[in-house]
Amino acid sequence: MKVRELIQQARIDRIEAEILLADVLEVERAWLFAHGEDPVAEPALTLFIDHAKARLTGEPLAYVLGYRDFRSLRLGVNRHVLIPRRETEHLVEWAIERIDAGSRRVLDLGTGSGAIALACKSERPHAMLTAIDCSAEALACAEANARSLDMQVEWLESHWFEQLGGAQWDLVVSNPPYISASDAHLKQGDLPAEPDSALIGGQTGLESIEHIVEHAPEYLVSGGWLLFEHGFDQADAVTECMQDRGFQQITSRRDWSSQPRMTGGQWPH
Ligand code: GLN
Repeated sequence: MKVRELIQQARIDRIEAEILLADVLEVERAWLFAHGEDPVAEPALTLFIDHAKARLTGEPLAYVLGYRDFRSLRLGVNRHVLIPRRETEHLVEWAIERIDAGSRRVLDLGTGSGAIALACKSERPHAMLTAIDCSAEALACAEANARSLDMQVEWLESHWFEQLGGAQWDLVVSNPPYISASDAHLKQGDLPAEPDSALIGGQTGLESIEHIVEHAPEYLVSGGWLLFEHGFDQADAVTECMQDRGFQQITSRRDWSSQPRMTGGQWPH
């Protein structure tokens, strides 16, 4: 079958079909436009048909491809990790500002594919990154990403702070699970395929954030910062929670779609 026909007959979004076909042919998407009449040979043909079928049955594009681009990095992803999101790129920007202001030891809580830790490390190589996740499979994915990018991050299997002993950090950054268990969004888009443990923050959505806020002060140096990503409607609740715990200089920031998506504050001197 020809390139053009394959794309037309794939029964998935045309751009996604182009992305999948370019991927199996190992060409740029632009190549397809000049080669619409070229025949697609095996094994690319079968691979493309399998990938298009998987997409048609709801498998997220990133899992079908096996990667997602995040800031300057191409990160391997699979069903054990949350697919890195654009929102989280803004959290990395904030973390980098803190690193530039002097934070050196940085802890990424619930690292998943390693997105936040690896992006910080790649953009600020002098920072010392530790990243934890409670899922051994997620850590395996993060470590594989670190190996293929040749970056040094300390990876630890831990439920939040449990395995961290007496160490302290200048900056703790996290994109924890923050969706309510009863939120209808969980049934939409890519979310049904993603790990619940990366998405669901208990009935309220805030349980993981509350746990982290409660315990973070033991693991922060005085003057250290705690930064979160959270739901578009959680900024007030997260602010209040951090205030009650004694954090100062609490501010929220907006993401690319103008949603107040991140909140952070400083543990006092
Ligand atoms: N931002 C994701 C979403 O709403 C959720 C990620 C998370 O829970 N940390 O799809």
